[in-house]
Amino acid sequence: MDVAKLESWLEENGEPKYRAAQIRQAVFKDHVSSYDEIATLPPALRQRLSRELPILSVSQDRLEISRDGRARKAVLRLADGRLIETVLLKPSPARLTTCISSQVGCAIRCSFCATGLMGFARSLSAEEIADQVLFWRQHIGCHGIEGSLTNVVYMGMGEPFNAYDAVAESLRRLTDQRQFAMAARRISVSTSGVAPKIARFGREFPQINLALSLHAAEDGLRAPLVPLNKAYPLKALAQALRDYLKATNRKIFLEYVMLQGRNDSPQNARALVRFAKSCGPLPLLHVNLIAYNAAVPGHAATPEPEIRRFQAALLKEGLAVTLRQNLGRDIHGACGQLLVSESQNVAAPAGRGAGAGSEGVR
Ligand code: SF4
Repeated sequence: MDVAKLESWLEENGEPKYRAAQIRQAVFKDHVSSYDEIATLPPALRQRLSRELPILSVSQDRLEISRDGRARKAVLRLADGRLIETVLLKPSPARLTTCISSQVGCAIRCSFCATGLMGFARSLSAEEIADQVLFWRQHIGCHGIEGSLTNVVYMGMGEPFNAYDAVAESLRRLTDQRQFAMAARRISVSTSGVAPKIARFGREFPQINLALSLHAAEDGLRAPLVPLNKAYPLKALAQALRDYLKATNRKIFLEYVMLQGRNDSPQNARALVRFAKSCGPLPLLHVNLIAYNAAVPGHAATPEPEIRRFQAALLKEGLAVTLRQNLGRDIHGACGQLLVSESQNVAAPAGRGAGAGSEGVR
């Protein structure tokens, strides 16, 4: 739902201005999934809009629900036929969080991440990014799921800062009171470390949370895990985080996936504390430890007792540390597991509708 596109379509078609407000109310507040549900619109207008300007730019291809019912993963088809994944999580009874994608695949190719194996196809548009949130709002309404969608994390497929302009525009839409009206403080963007964009993001979106996918705090160890480290080593990242803190004075989240025998030793914990101290005051840094979800051969999860020991070592040095809840493992919807196979993920030939842009959710 691109409001600017909708408004110009209505104007070009001689419709009164208040139609846009009626449609915005129905889509963003009532979460209708079809123009047919908007009783205030004349039937002929509903039909034309359904044909020419579908509410969603994405359509559901598949949906999986975890055994415990706390995670849902949707494979969404884009207008060009390509596929992305997006996840809805229920970390607590009242709270629903969606993890959304910013690109089809990812060029960063982190060694432990399934999305990295896909390679990179293209970045999403602002509309395709924001429509993942709209998709889940409709889904929650249609399926009577308890709770409301309060949090959005840009931690799905892709590196958000490699699609900076589209991500920035999607953030403006999500926080626009006339559209999604989401609280900026409940939105988080995660980067693998595109240093030049970090300070810019702080200046442009000081209320939105920043997470850095750190995973190792020594260059020699981080570069094989997160190849972007070669372009932006830890020294450059620490400088970018200092600039970010100066601009926002807001807490930064350091994400750290625990890989057995790779980054989980006491020495690795000490390096992490040193890195955090080089970025800014420790109360402004928060470490999220993530138990590794089997995604790529050659990597194994650190056993939980060792994760606890690692956590204790960080706590002792004054760092705030939490263990991230791992939801949706059984449907491959957890951190690092999002993947659409190459054979499925091809663009439709030009001019052939691929099914995307259909209204509604199933
Ligand atoms: S972890 Fe993030 S940045 Fe790295 S390959 Fe996966 S999607 Fe890309």
